[in-house]
Amino acid sequence: MASIVVIGAGQAGSSLVARLRAKGFDGAITLIGKEPVPPYQRPPLSKKYLLGEMDLERLYLRPESFYSENAIDLRLSETAISIDRAGKVVVADGKTIPYDQLALTTGAVPRRLPSNIGGDLQGVYVVRNLQDVDTMAPGFREGAHVLIVGGGYIGLEAAAVAASRGLKVTLIEAAERILQRVAARETSDYFRALHTAHDVDIREGTGLETLTGDTRVTGARLSDGTELAVDFVIAGIGIAPATALAEAAGLTIANGIAVDEFGRTSDPAIWAAGDCASFPHDGGRLRLESVPNAIDMAECVADNIIGAEKRYVPQPWFWSDQYDVKLQIAGLNTGYTRVITRPGDGEGSTSFWYYAGDRLLAVDAMNDARAYMVGKRLIDAGKSPSAKAVADPATDLKALLRS
Ligand code: NAP
Repeated sequence: MASIVVIGAGQAGSSLVARLRAKGFDGAITLIGKEPVPPYQRPPLSKKYLLGEMDLERLYLRPESFYSENAIDLRLSETAISIDRAGKVVVADGKTIPYDQLALTTGAVPRRLPSNIGGDLQGVYVVRNLQDVDTMAPGFREGAHVLIVGGGYIGLEAAAVAASRGLKVTLIEAAERILQRVAARETSDYFRALHTAHDVDIREGTGLETLTGDTRVTGARLSDGTELAVDFVIAGIGIAPATALAEAAGLTIANGIAVDEFGRTSDPAIWAAGDCASFPHDGGRLRLESVPNAIDMAECVADNIIGAEKRYVPQPWFWSDQYDVKLQIAGLNTGYTRVITRPGDGEGSTSFWYYAGDRLLAVDAMNDARAYMVGKRLIDAGKSPSAKAVADPATDLKALLRS
């Protein structure tokens, strides 16, 4: 019977192996993971887990017993070193593991601040895994001053948690506005106002010149010449797909491990899914950094490994929690030409609808589950309501689904 090896025990790897068994695959399955704990959810790490509202076991995607009960050989604290494609074996910490089919779900690695500007000082953290969060947690003391570098979702979510815990928070964003890479000005304005109301000092168009301190960070000099005394620093300056293993094995890399529409890499016996993989989309390539993509793509790849020949068609959605605001995003806004605002009913409730001409691309909904749900269904169905109808608060959103 065939043997399937999966490298990377995160959300995508865990979803992939579970799906193989759910679909009746009864050959050998091995899941190799670097970290010492079973696959866990990352989104709550920097929120509920950091706040002490969720313990480690509740982070696990599946109970530890799931893997043995399903005859999945989960190898923790094990690092895959190389792939011998000719011999069809993975080398992991001195052992060789043969495969018939191999899947790479290696995820992404956070960018770090360069060492020549103090990025290696103690007290400079990134937010990606359990160890990162366990290391920074003791610093979250009321009154401590944290500098957050980067105004993407990681930086803003960290700022919300720190401000809620009573820390003094300064957040710098090199671009002209926070969330510039991922959202319209309207969404940036909304979150700037939200954070400012919670006393976060947001400085846009401001980079980091250098961090200072002997062994531990104690200060920062910003690009505008300002000097700050800080207790610790969190860098949320983006992630890069983890492609080193694939690259060393000679697989094609193009903004991640390049796969075809079925999730197959340039080697027909090797597949990839999740944050590490780029797939064909709209005549180009797309790589999504999100939990829903990790799950959907991994499940599609699992089906294809056992012969389904299903094209991966993403139906993108994202979410972010900051203070008491839930942001839900449906679709991809790339190429938008205008943004329509639709006021919601409750406190802080509003949605921004992205159009390219008359075509609806995406919706950012803040505390407005209905706008998100309707927007997602419209986008998934390829329907575009008129911008005028969307902007009119008197329009029944659900009626748009029927038209
Ligand atoms: P990100 O979305 O790429 O944001 C990083 C931001 O930091 C960018 O705006 C970047 O500006 C800025 N930046 C870079 N270098 C800087 C510097 N030296 N000084 C000041 N600002 C700097 O990445 P992220 O926030 O680290 O998140 C990583 C990934 O996880 C993203 O894909 C994110 O969407 C995802 N994530 C999603 C959620 C969610 O859906 N809830 C939550 C957390 C993370 P430039 O663009 O100009 O470089």
